[in-house]
Amino acid sequence: DMREEEVETAIKVVIVGNGAVGKSSMIQRYCKGIFTKDYKKTIGVDFLERQIEVNCEDVRLMLWDTAGQEEFDAITRAYYRGAQACVIAFSIVDRDSFEAIQDWKRKVEDEVGQIPTVFVQNKMDLADETLVAQKEVDDLVANSRLKLFKTSVKNNVCVDDVFKYLAEKYLEQL
Ligand code: GDP
Repeated sequence: DMREEEVETAIKVVIVGNGAVGKSSMIQRYCKGIFTKDYKKTIGVDFLERQIEVNCEDVRLMLWDTAGQEEFDAITRAYYRGAQACVIAFSIVDRDSFEAIQDWKRKVEDEVGQIPTVFVQNKMDLADETLVAQKEVDDLVANSRLKLFKTSVKNNVCVDDVFKYLAEKYLEQL
């Protein structure tokens, strides 16, 4: 048998950000295609996966949900271990969540170093009620040189793009 053995690429992606910005919802949306208002977060180590094709290559994305709250710091350590890509999420109707994204970026870098990372500005369907000016976001993003995705997990806007981009970035650096 002369066929080369297919070695599939698997990427561990961690999704971080303050509580209630939509991290669990994003994982459910992307991996299961569902959005529920009252998705109950399981405490502990948990991930969902989805396989996509990037540049004719099969890539398996494993999306890990972090507990988010500092009280679970000991648990979240385990989430970061071996992370190969990262989503830093905030919600436009939660100012604190926006102000925390630099801290999240530092935290991830402290744990795993530099890995492909993006910012996600979620709940864009609530733009009428936004508590974050777009200019603030754009200024911060320009300084960090990371890409920003404006998503509505609820309406399934731009969610696929986030993970496709991360997979591409990951493959580029191999
Ligand atoms: P997590 O704590 O960051 O994992 O946040 P969750 O995924 O538990 O979401 C918190 C709440 O925000 C839930 O009620 C979700 O249904 C809601 N939510 C998540 N994404 C969106 C979105 O894009 N738009 C709106 N309107 N609500 C969202």
